[in-house]
Amino acid sequence: MKKVVVSGIRPTGDAHIGNYLGAIKYFVDLQNDDNECYYFVADLHALTTHPEPSILKKAVPEVVKTYLACGVDPKKAVLYVQSSAPAISELFMLLSNIAAVPLLQRCKVYQTQIKEEHKNDNFGLLGYPVLMAADILAHQANLVPVGEDQIPHLEMARDFAQAFNRRYKEVFVEPQAMLKKPIRIPGIDGKGKMSKSKGNTINLTDSYENIEKKLLVAPTDPKRARRNDPGTPNACPVIFEMHKLVSSKNQVKTINEECKRAGIGCRDCKKILIVNMEKMIKPIRERYKELETKPFIITEILAEGGEKAQKHIEKTIDAAANTMGIFRY
Ligand code: SF4
Repeated sequence: MKKVVVSGIRPTGDAHIGNYLGAIKYFVDLQNDDNECYYFVADLHALTTHPEPSILKKAVPEVVKTYLACGVDPKKAVLYVQSSAPAISELFMLLSNIAAVPLLQRCKVYQTQIKEEHKNDNFGLLGYPVLMAADILAHQANLVPVGEDQIPHLEMARDFAQAFNRRYKEVFVEPQAMLKKPIRIPGIDGKGKMSKSKGNTINLTDSYENIEKKLLVAPTDPKRARRNDPGTPNACPVIFEMHKLVSSKNQVKTINEECKRAGIGCRDCKKILIVNMEKMIKPIRERYKELETKPFIITEILAEGGEKAQKHIEKTIDAAANTMGIFRY
């Protein structure tokens, strides 16, 4: 039997190779593995941090364009915007009567956002795990791809499903986590993870010239000050790490050996990486550009996806509401 997979996408623009290798590629594999996939753009979740409305409005189609360009196929996966399936908001309302406030307050992610990131302490932020549970439980999801940091949220969704099923009757499937293999994508400045906020990214829409410009100045093993100095690839914070992600196994093996005996210079090593990076990004960049000329395609896909998602969840939400004593008149 097909497994139902649900996952949310944050509506942020300028996707980079970290987003692709760490998440989007995985979504494409899941859809191709004959699962029943529902991928949504989490516009309601985004409201918790008060994005500028015009920016949020623009970011939604942009993120969809990126996912389509990367290979998410609307014939294989349902792609929709969270707010276009309003039954999710209804389930959020129903589940909020199950969710214990102290449990939400103890949530580590919430605490970090309030205490360390000084985010606005609103109910949306506190109730984030309830809305996330609604996203998942509405579809009766079996599997939810998550990073380690999202496990507490998924456990809460399971808790709410169990609490509901215990208090009323068995309505919800308890979702299981599919732990994504963590992939470390270094920023081009060599100072930690690739991140849009640090401005150290290679974007999926970068031209060949941009990729070249960014990688040619990226730091390498500091011990290779001169061409003849032997290096330690594992001390090369950007280039060797990226080779491991985008170059062939043979190329990585050769670079590893040649770097150690100063058989290859850093510039030539970078050039090999630039070619491989371009090979990966070019088809994505070209599909993205093509989609930019056809905005109606995005509108159609999202309208159809919203309809399909709403249809898929209505039965479950009606069952949950009826079980709680709510009837439609
Ligand atoms: S040869 Fe390549 S792997 Fe070695 S230090 Fe230079 S850039 Fe890094």
